[in-house]
Order: sequence, then C-alpha cells, then structure tokens
Amino acid sequence: ARNSGDESIAVIGLGRFGSHLAESLSALGHDVLAVDRNAQQVQKWSAHLDQVTQADATDEDALRQLGIADLQRVVVAIGASVEASVLTVLALVELGVPQIWARAISGQHAKILSSVGAQHVIFPEAETGERLAHLIVTRMLDFVEFGDAFAIAKLRVPESLVGHSISEVRLLDRHGVRVLGIKAPDESRFRYVSDGLELVRDSTLIVEGTIEQVQRFSLIS
Ligand code: ADP
Repeated sequence: ARNSGDESIAVIGLGRFGSHLAESLSALGHDVLAVDRNAQQVQKWSAHLDQVTQADATDEDALRQLGIADLQRVVVAIGASVEASVLTVLALVELGVPQIWARAISGQHAKILSSVGAQHVIFPEAETGERLAHLIVTRMLDFVEFGDAFAIAKLRVPESLVGHSISEVRLLDRHGVRVLGIKAPDESRFRYVSDGLELVRDSTLIVEGTIEQVQRFSLIS
C-alpha cells in the first residue's frame, strides 16, 4: 500500500455508489480490492481500478479465497438487493472482519445491517438529503452535523459584521457560535482568528456551535 501502515480495503458492489467510493479510496492512495458479481461491471471498472474481481459476495468461501478474511476494513456498497447486502455482511461477520461498513437504502435495511453485526451503517440518500436541506434553506456554503446537536458550518461573513473586529462582534455572547477559521477573499487558505482581526467583506468563516445556533447565525445578513 502507498499509505504506510495501511492495507487493502475491499469494496463490494460496484454500482453508482460503490464505484465512486472505490475511486475515491484509490485516489487517497489506498489499495482497493473491488468485487462485483456482475461480469459487465467488473469489465467496466477494471480499466479504472487496480484490482477488480468477479465474485458473489454472499459466498463465504469465495470471500475467503479473495483474502478478504484477512482485511481490517470492508465496505458493502450493494444497495438494491437488500438480501445480497445482508447475506454479504453476515458472511463478513462469520469471517471475522473487524470493520464492516455497510450501505443501507432504507431505515429498515439500516436496522438489519446493524443487528447482523455491521459496525458502521451508512445511508447516503438520507444523509445527503438532510444535509442538502440545510444548505438550501440557509446561507451556509457547507455544513457538517455531528452527534449531540453539534455542527460546523462554512459561510460568508454577514454584511452587518463587515468592518468590525472579531472581539467587537462578540459572536459567542451574541450568537453562541465560535469562529474556527477565516479566509479573506484574496487569501487561498483558512487561518485562525485573533481578537483584533477585522472582518473583511466577502470573507469566508468556519463556525462551530449547536445546529440551531449555527443555523440562526447563517440567516443573519
Ligand atoms: P447503486 O445504487 O450504487 O447503483 P446497486 O445496488 O444498483 O447500487 O448496485 C450494486 C452493485 O452490487 C451492482 O453492480 C451488483 O452487480 C452488485 N452486487 C449485487 N449483489 C452482489 C453480490 N451478491 N456479490 C457481489 N456483488 C453484488
């Protein structure tokens, strides 16, 4: 592997989601072992990924032969066939794979995947839809929500704060948000803020707070 201390990550199911994931992992410098039962998918992705193998991932022996039992991380990206997805996760649990990431396509599917032993269940449609809703109705440029109502957002400096210093605007007292970073329009990267720093028009801010505070802050102009 190009990343020291890392070994291959298997991605099972090269549909729209799995193929993007496999390409991204590969671009990050990881060795990806891609698996799909469909010969056409295997053919198609062989041109873009280093290791692409045709196999039915619900077959425990087939997975063992591919060396998947020795991997630390496997992603089950099969969506449409809930049965194939669940049986694949079961096979991986049987093989003792320690970190199984499994994609769900419904709330029920997600519950089943957790109960059969997937450590990480992802539900891309629900997660992206929810995140996008926040971006559409506020002025946030980007938004990440963590547990316990905590969020981090990227947004343009509100016009009413332009020309004031960080200490003057008292964001924590007045809006409950803390500034983690700022980038002026002529700068290429974010930097930490100091109290005396003046807020320049069209700067970009990274702020943290509760989801509600961050959202309310993103609505002020
Ligand atoms: P997407 O919504 O990301 O396009 P799909 O569920 O349509 O996802 O595609 C999933 C991929 O998983 C398909 O390419 C399919 O051939 C593959 N797949 C389905 N069942 C298995 C299985 N048992 N073993 C390996 N690959 C599978």
